Amino acid sequence: MKNIECSFCGTSVPHEEAKGKFVAGPGVFICRDCVDMMIDIFGQKDPKWRERTIKALKAIPNAK
Ligand SMILES: [Zn+2]
Repeated sequence: MKNIECSFCGTSVPHEEAKGKFVAGPGVFICRDCVDMMIDIFGQKDPKWRERTIKALKAIPNAK
């Protein structure tokens, strides 16, 4: 089975280990570490954005 690869940092894990660790976009995946990092970077400038983003991310289905 194909590995899931983070489109941002390139981390690659087997499909069955990706559950709960990646979010899927259209044809891309991003890992939890990168999401954390981005929320930190953007959230420092804009705490309201940070809240909205965390809420929005909870609505995105995990990689299956
Ligand atoms: Zn990543």
